[in-house]
Amino acid sequence: MFINVQHISMDAPNNRRPGIAMEPEYLTIHSTANPDSTAQNERDWLINPSNTRTASWHLVVDDKEVIEAIPQNEVAWHAGDGRKGTGNKKSISIEICESNDREKTIINAVKLSAKILHERKWGIDRLKRHYDWSGKHCPRILECNNWSGWENFKIMVSKELEELSISTWAKEAVDWATSSEINITDGTKPKESITLERMITILYRYDKLIQKK
Ligand SMILES: [Zn+2]
Repeated sequence: MFINVQHISMDAPNNRRPGIAMEPEYLTIHSTANPDSTAQNERDWLINPSNTRTASWHLVVDDKEVIEAIPQNEVAWHAGDGRKGTGNKKSISIEICESNDREKTIINAVKLSAKILHERKWGIDRLKRHYDWSGKHCPRILECNNWSGWENFKIMVSKELEELSISTWAKEAVDWATSSEINITDGTKPKESITLERMITILYRYDKLIQKK
């Protein structure tokens, strides 16, 4: 999943990028509560002179793309739990757009969330709502009735996370195949069916390796 990096500058108005180093422990989900705003619109709003709020976020996702506005190892002001709050000081934030094709947007948000959890070796327990930090009715797009949308979102992220993970029985072999000495596959999408060209390439690389020995 491609992340379009468009960081706002350190001197962005209203302290939106304070530049405070962060070692994140959670991933917090929001939605924009704006049915007309795309990911690019949201990113542009962060540097729009008529925006007088301090609020900011790390990543925004819509039905077409993901944009990163603040690096994931810096604090953004999104959780409403204050300057020392765990939500603000220890969590990466994703804004989900409410514009255009919501079904596609949710799928992109699921993939992005799973990617971040997977890369950081985090379980689904690290996934939080804005609501969990400060009681705000957010992410509104996932509320439906009594947060059933949120429960469903967590199930979808768990499934995607499972897709990205290596099964215990295969781990030793995958570690071998992806090690720097062997390097016959990059090991991505481990649960996906293999195409003929991918299989032939792996065999070819292995054959080269044997001939070198
Ligand atoms: Zn929010």
